[in-house]
Amino acid sequence: MRLRTHLQRCATIKQPIRVVARAGQTSLNASSGMKPASKDLQPPKDLPTLSSLEWSKPLQIVRYPDPRLRAVNAKITKFDSSLLELAKEMIQAMYLDDGVGLAAPQVGINARLMVFNPHGKEKPGNESILVNPEIVSISKSTAVETEGCLSFPDRCSNDVSRTLIYADVERPRDIIVKAQDEKGEPVQLQLGGLSDLGAFISRIFQHEYDHLQGILFHDRMKANVLDSVRTSLQALEEEFLVANPGVKIQRIPAMKVKKGF
Ligand SMILES: [Zn+2]
Repeated sequence: MRLRTHLQRCATIKQPIRVVARAGQTSLNASSGMKPASKDLQPPKDLPTLSSLEWSKPLQIVRYPDPRLRAVNAKITKFDSSLLELAKEMIQAMYLDDGVGLAAPQVGINARLMVFNPHGKEKPGNESILVNPEIVSISKSTAVETEGCLSFPDRCSNDVSRTLIYADVERPRDIIVKAQDEKGEPVQLQLGGLSDLGAFISRIFQHEYDHLQGILFHDRMKANVLDSVRTSLQALEEEFLVANPGVKIQRIPAMKVKKGF
């Protein structure tokens, strides 16, 4: 994931907030105004498990509408050196594309693993690796920000600096999350809050978590926002079908035509 506006603001923050705490070491009280995670944010029932990860270098970012971005992502049960190595490779792939977050299905691995660093490659050492994350609760209040996704290059832009599709997405401001770290230790996170950095991290997490649920950022766009990027999305669909004839893909829904009367 990439966010243009926030990335610049975040780059000026001197002391990043520590948002990851081991369960039991820090009290993470639910903020007021929270509600249980909606159904689309809950992991599917009967989630398959993955005892070994199969992957090879170099990792390649999977582009929309590759079906691996819509596939079920399995729960990880083996916490070994291969998992840590994969997470490190994902971080490098993320930096190579100037991103701040990446989920395993975006490199073609259908497993519940994500990495992020809200400062991006400019400030290495601030990476988080989360395995089998789950959103426990979300705030009732929401925020709208412009997002870009590394799996969505913009083929229709005349602006050479605009290499990704960018569009506004509404998400809950705050979330409470439980997950495991790369060693399998449980972690609990309260993401959001009043600072720009906190809000940014909450958004990155939610974007990457959606990938683990097979949800893509245009699924969450309002109809008029989706219409504004429709041509770029369709260009990616056509490009994919030319390169992968016969592969079944999930296209964006057709534009709703307003009826006159
Ligand atoms: Zn993305």
